[in-house]
Amino acid sequence: MESKSKIFQAKSEEVGFNREHRRILNYNIGQYDKAVEKGMHFFRDIENAREQASKIKDFVLQEFEQLLIRFEKNARGNGCEVEWASEAADVYKILGKIIASEDVRTVVKMKSMISEELEINQFLNKNKVESFETDLGEFIVQLAGEKPYHIVTPAMHKSKEDVAALFHQKYNMDPASKPEEITGFVRDFLREKFMSAQLGITGANFLIAETGSIGLTENEGNGMMTFSWPKTLVVIAGIERLVPELTDLDLFWPLLAVHGTGQHVTAYNTILSGPAKSTEGDGPSRMVVILFDGGRTRLFQDLDMLVALKCLRCGACLNACPVYKNIGGFTYQTTYTGPIGSIISRYMDGTQDMGFLNFASSLCGKCTGTCPVKIPLHKLLLENRRKIVETSDSVGVERFFFSNYKKLMMRRRKLERINPKWKNKAMTTVGIKVWGPRRDPLVFAKESFHLTWKKKGF
Ligand code: SF4
Repeated sequence: MESKSKIFQAKSEEVGFNREHRRILNYNIGQYDKAVEKGMHFFRDIENAREQASKIKDFVLQEFEQLLIRFEKNARGNGCEVEWASEAADVYKILGKIIASEDVRTVVKMKSMISEELEINQFLNKNKVESFETDLGEFIVQLAGEKPYHIVTPAMHKSKEDVAALFHQKYNMDPASKPEEITGFVRDFLREKFMSAQLGITGANFLIAETGSIGLTENEGNGMMTFSWPKTLVVIAGIERLVPELTDLDLFWPLLAVHGTGQHVTAYNTILSGPAKSTEGDGPSRMVVILFDGGRTRLFQDLDMLVALKCLRCGACLNACPVYKNIGGFTYQTTYTGPIGSIISRYMDGTQDMGFLNFASSLCGKCTGTCPVKIPLHKLLLENRRKIVETSDSVGVERFFFSNYKKLMMRRRKLERINPKWKNKAMTTVGIKVWGPRRDPLVFAKESFHLTWKKKGF
């Protein structure tokens, strides 16, 4: 089987030179950039806000264990069942039991990257449970049989014409359908699913330790129906989603909204504190919170890398990254893409296979400059590279090659003695692989600049 790194190279080549794909991506990221530029003005001092958020997240890392225990205790006090899952198989086991005990046949899901990480839809379908993504972008990619292209805007790679063609193919809608007609269709279609589903599944933007509550943020209102209509609710949350106190959301909600979409604040923000009480008219009668590790502890144990756990999943570093903007989301072959995805993926899947992604960066540092919690992303990419090179089998060969290359480059006279014909030969045979077929060939001059300079008597 072809390695993921080879697939990555082939896909990068294919996508990077697909003009239509780049047009759609540049248009959508351009819209995002405009919105964010405006959104930043909502903050009197955005740098200060980032600094504060970063400090709160540092505190979370410092008190990680205590805060998790505090969250668990308070969530149980609210009437939630709290389960711990170290890997995907643990989550499937818990879900399997719930499906059997609640006779679940239909599930509605709120957009959540952790359920993509866990491939929850595939698990449910294998168990003969139909599941529906209820966020419009997620619904579109589910319909297309794809994974989310971007952690905030899953269908970013599709134009409105692509979406209309998809709905024509799947539901025989007019191929010239307008976005509002498609949205209306999806709304009606999903309403019926919300009413019949036995189980709702969400992720969690925040786990609030002080109150044992879940903070959720969304723009379409589908999340509110996911967690308030079905009788049972399962929240699957990464253990790093912690914030210490309820009032921390004053800062994190607008910060996440501005960096995610450029909004002042997202349209719907909810704090869920347990299942419906006897005095409440709606809400689930059973609420299960699954605290999922999935390699986060591996990150936590690496002192150079643990700051990556501060991530809010706002997607800003993806939109800023010149590599992401050219090769797009699918090329990464991971749930989390862009700079943050490149850093964490090798820890999360446990196989270290995705380490090569750390080399897919220009290290320009724009990602670091946009991160709302001040994660030094470009430094982490570099640090990961160092770790990978140190443990690589090829390190001896590379050292030998580069030390000789350095010696050669440092001795101009030796280099000049090599006939340019041979240099050109080397470039068109071995060097072409590195130089790439799309560039003009690199042709060495008959005589070096240094020799010409000398001959002219300067
Ligand atoms: S690393 Fe920072 S910029 Fe990137 S998704 Fe996470 S919070 Fe957002």
